Amino acid sequence: MSGILVFAEQSGGTFKATAAELLGTATDLAAALGTTVSAAVLGDAPAADLGGFGASKVYQASGDFNDYNTGAITDALAAIIREAKPDVVLAPASYAGRDAIPRIAARFDTAMASDCTGLRADGGKLVARRPMYAGRAYADVTIDSSPAIFAVRPNTFPRAESNGSTAEVVAVSWEASTPTVTVVETLAPDSTGIDLGSAGRVVAGGRSLKSKESFDSVIRPLGAAIAAGVGASRAATDAGYAPHNEQVGQTGQTVNPSLYIACGISGAIQHLAGMRTSKVIVAINKDPDAPIFQHATYGIVADLFDVVPELTAAFEALD
Ligand SMILES: Cc1cc2nc3c(=O)[nH]c(=O)nc-3n(C[C@H](O)[C@H](O)[C@H](O)COP(=O)(O)OP(=O)(O)OC[C@H]3O[C@@H](n4cnc5c(N)ncnc54)[C@H](O)[C@@H]3O)c2cc1C
Repeated sequence: MSGILVFAEQSGGTFKATAAELLGTATDLAAALGTTVSAAVLGDAPAADLGGFGASKVYQASGDFNDYNTGAITDALAAIIREAKPDVVLAPASYAGRDAIPRIAARFDTAMASDCTGLRADGGKLVARRPMYAGRAYADVTIDSSPAIFAVRPNTFPRAESNGSTAEVVAVSWEASTPTVTVVETLAPDSTGIDLGSAGRVVAGGRSLKSKESFDSVIRPLGAAIAAGVGASRAATDAGYAPHNEQVGQTGQTVNPSLYIACGISGAIQHLAGMRTSKVIVAINKDPDAPIFQHATYGIVADLFDVVPELTAAFEALD
């Protein structure tokens, strides 16, 4: 193997948590496969610092990537891959990852495995685990073409801690290809706060909330009390209780937190598709036969309007 290249995503000069997650697991995999780890950085960020997370070399493409532009991300990342010539590329299954990484795979006429929830070394190859059929089954896949590209769901691996060392930084020049898409405007999401896609904790509410006012006064305070991202079922977003960017599920966001608290959500397959890989699922529902309980680590059969404020007060009292 000639190496594992990790796409270390950054925003405003700060690396996202996925950079430490992917570099940590890449270091372990590289040790098992007898190869090295490098990182790809787009834009202005402290690239050398990634040496502390296991990258022996960091390839950095300069430019302003803060205004989201898939074409620029794809062009710059492709230039880095041409320079680094890795056998394996690990990228986060973030917005940028989901958008740009399939384009990268097409440019290099290679295969990719999307939305991976596990990676292991076996017989000199990387084996990725990925959910299928809305999470009802898992497939273990390997890729024979090179570079083999894997987009990994955020929060799949623990974040590596930096040991303080620095890496050699290689500046990579790149040229923007003729744009096929022009960004005319960037709109801030309706909601503020924690990014749902990479949140370590998520509190979500469903149709049972009955109004935007009760969603805001019951669900959001629990989210704030435990520093969680706020999500909603499609029934809740369609009814206007929460904005659409907070919808979790097959046609919404995919989340993979350590803790998912589902409040008054029935557990339809389309909702489960976006959250069933959460490490601990707590379901609050007044119907003991609600399907969500089949997937919950802990279940509370009760009225959410009683339980959620009590939980919020209990968490607030811990501060
Ligand atoms: C193509 C397609 C794509 C879809 N994509 C998505 C998606 O991405 N995300 C998604 O979520 N859905 C999606 N859906 C919709 C999905 O099928 C369900 O309709 C939806 O998830 C139901 O939302 P809910 O659980 O909030 O509502 P319901 O199914 O109506 O469940 C409400 C639950 O709240 C409980 N409840 C009521 N009052 C209380 C109370 N006071 N205290 C405690 N519990 C209470 C009830 O017992 C019930 O279990 C999709 C559907 C289709 C067809």
